[in-house]
Amino acid sequence: MHAKSSHTGAYLNLKLYDLDSKISFNSKNINSLTMKVQQVLDNLSQRFPNEPVYLQAVEELLTSIEDVYNQHPEFAKVNLIERLCIPDRIFSFRVTWVDDAGSVHTNMGYRVQHNNAIGPYKGGLRFHPSVAPQLLKFLAFEQTFKNALTTLPMGGGKGGSDFSPKGKSDAEVMRFCQAFILELWRHIGPDTDVPAGDIGVGGREVNYMYGMYKKLARENTGTFTGKSLEGGGSLIRPEATGFGNVYFLLEMLKTRNIDIKDKIVTVSGSGNVAQYTTEKLIELGAKVVTLSDSDGYIYDPAGIDSEKLSFIMELKNEKRGRIKEYAEKFGCTYVEGERPWNIVCDIALPSATQNEINAEDAQKLVDNGCFAVSEGANMPSTPEAIAIFLNHNILYAPGKAANAGGVAVSGLEMTQNSIKLSWTRDEVDHKLKHIMKEIHNQCVKYGKTSNGYINYVKGANVAGFMKVAKAMMDQGII
Ligand code: GLU
Repeated sequence: MHAKSSHTGAYLNLKLYDLDSKISFNSKNINSLTMKVQQVLDNLSQRFPNEPVYLQAVEELLTSIEDVYNQHPEFAKVNLIERLCIPDRIFSFRVTWVDDAGSVHTNMGYRVQHNNAIGPYKGGLRFHPSVAPQLLKFLAFEQTFKNALTTLPMGGGKGGSDFSPKGKSDAEVMRFCQAFILELWRHIGPDTDVPAGDIGVGGREVNYMYGMYKKLARENTGTFTGKSLEGGGSLIRPEATGFGNVYFLLEMLKTRNIDIKDKIVTVSGSGNVAQYTTEKLIELGAKVVTLSDSDGYIYDPAGIDSEKLSFIMELKNEKRGRIKEYAEKFGCTYVEGERPWNIVCDIALPSATQNEINAEDAQKLVDNGCFAVSEGANMPSTPEAIAIFLNHNILYAPGKAANAGGVAVSGLEMTQNSIKLSWTRDEVDHKLKHIMKEIHNQCVKYGKTSNGYINYVKGANVAGFMKVAKAMMDQGII
């Protein structure tokens, strides 16, 4: 008994990590107990060379939070910054599948589990030839702070494959999804990691993956969001990213007493986000004049109405055709190989992919009188483009705030699955509006500058970072 208790006492007194002593970490910035963005970046780029998009996302965040971070010396003592930038783990695997002609193909599959300090890893899967670990590392990093902003308990992750669903039959897509899950299923679960869709992964793919997951895991707890309604999905989930972006835009416009009605809006992309962004804008009386895909963009000065939008939805979601066919059908302009940023507009909503607005595009938008940019895609603006928007004091919302509505409703889908109930369309829409408003409030709280301008980049980054940082501090060095 005596031996046992003294052993216990010794154990309790054991300090695994002495937070008050100088711990020697492998990065120089720790010695001074201040974080210098350049030092952290140099260190990361040495360790992870050839990962420019990941480093771009890290730099954007670190630049915004540098001051706040350095007001908390306790963060540097535990090297919080590297633990926050480097993902918890990355799974990488081969996916083997058979096409309709009987040929055998291999693709790479990945899941980046970035951070689970505030909840299970959560984030979409992207199927696109450009998918590689560095791209997913950037997306998982962004997702962590975006999810923190939603006010819901979700950590950050992202995954995907270099498989392209373009031109594949339904049966091929199904076999690929099943093969992908045959590997991934053991790493995910309702309280571990909950995937969803992203570029190249919509309802069809999520449902195929979820079906295979259930067969292997023998459970029905909703691991996956964006499921069909009948299979446990949530109302408003398909609409959520686009609707959420417009709700966020409305909050921004409110700060300048601007009415959305009759405003000319350029939207890029023509997938899920662009479609529901357009739907909400039509409902509010704004005029959407562009949409795009990876081949080019359409310019319809008359505006896309509900009927034309139905055509796009059928074209893109069922026939899986190209946006060019819209111009052919409605007799408007189609510009091959370009993006819509030289079209005169009041508001631009990039909803396609990363780095689709460069400095030249941003300058063109500003010169043409565009006063608001709200990002439906993840990191669509390059750092140079962002600098131009901020220097011209336009209303500029980064994706991690503006497009958080998608993952927010995913969080609501998880809640409905756990309580085994389904909320009505109005209930979910109401909650989504509330969440977007809350995200806007957080951006204002941390991003309002002395001259009254709201720097949404800073606001979103500081708010997201502080939440994750506090949770990590509470949970010790792991
Ligand atoms: N792919 C979406 C995003 O970038 C949604 C992720 C999710 O619902 O988990 O936020």
